[in-house]
Amino acid sequence: MFNKTDISSFNLAELSEYLLKLSEENGIKIEKFRAKQIYGWLNSGVSAFDEMTNISKPIRELLDKNCYIALPQVENKLVSKIDGTVKYLFRLYDGECVESVFMRYEHGNTVCISSQAGCRMGCRFCASTIAGFSRNLTPSEILGQVIAASKDTGERVSNIVMMGIGEPLDNFDNVIKFLELVNSPDGLNIGYRHISLSTCGIVDKILKLSEKNLPITLSISLHSTTQEERERLMPIAKKFGIDELLSACRKYIENGGRRISFEYTMIEGENDSEEDALRLAKLLSGMLCHVNLIPLNTVKGRDYRKSAKTSIQKFISVLEKRGITATVRRRLGSDIDASCGQLRASKIESPAK
Ligand code: SAH
Repeated sequence: MFNKTDISSFNLAELSEYLLKLSEENGIKIEKFRAKQIYGWLNSGVSAFDEMTNISKPIRELLDKNCYIALPQVENKLVSKIDGTVKYLFRLYDGECVESVFMRYEHGNTVCISSQAGCRMGCRFCASTIAGFSRNLTPSEILGQVIAASKDTGERVSNIVMMGIGEPLDNFDNVIKFLELVNSPDGLNIGYRHISLSTCGIVDKILKLSEKNLPITLSISLHSTTQEERERLMPIAKKFGIDELLSACRKYIENGGRRISFEYTMIEGENDSEEDALRLAKLLSGMLCHVNLIPLNTVKGRDYRKSAKTSIQKFISVLEKRGITATVRRRLGSDIDASCGQLRASKIESPAK
């Protein structure tokens, strides 16, 4: 598999070029219009070249000899009885596993996808970090989660959130390529405005992303209001300080004119006091932004607890009094533990399951 070409990481132009080369090198005729057909098949979720029924056998065999289709396979699947949310554990071609979640909202179906097999950011409260980091996902494997979830549910996906396992900006080039592929009119054609990307705050990459000027929604996992506390919860803060992070955010907003969403996980006794809310309001003052409060999901092996409802309400009212809009994230799939990282971690702990 490793010496084969990852055909689904190509955009249409690259695929056309590749087919031309393959055709010339092997003396098998591949007409120009085949590129679009093959691209369409790959985006519709075929897992083998034989499924491409309008492509001749010699071309299919040639492709099979030289390429592989990186469509993730469903290894495990949990369906919520409460709201129909589906959580997938997908197996990749080399046996690595990642998680994705399919959610139904009024404004359309959303898939939450992973960008890496594991994560090396080490946030204290996050399950993704527990099972360690294996490798970056290829553009095709990131895209493949959306295609596979859509294929499995038989429903169209209209929104994507990059909030699964991994740190998207730690896999920058592949994530950018994925965004191009998923936005392609010849592919899934999902608008940038329907895509959110969440980062723990890798400042140089936020600035690099800003230069690309893609109208996606950027979410920043802030989670703390002081440098000291942020360092305790999120090791990345030691590399990029909170002031540096917020100044990059200001630049990002200035550049693209789009508001940033700040994620703030509410952890009892850690970051949920009135003083925290006041500090947060001060940090974000004057910024075009929104705050998303996430009541902590308890993670096995970590002794943090989620904040009480009353602390969360108090926190919101402090922010709103100071002109900062805040909402509490609705929790879908609560009966299947839909937040990411836990399935992969338990799979690695007991691989026989
Ligand atoms: N690496 C990216 C995407 C990660 S997950 C990032 O850090 O933003 C998406 C969000 O869920 C992040 O804000 C993350 O900090 C948060 N999160 C992680 N573990 C959590 C938990 N146990 N409870 C609540 N939110 C959590």
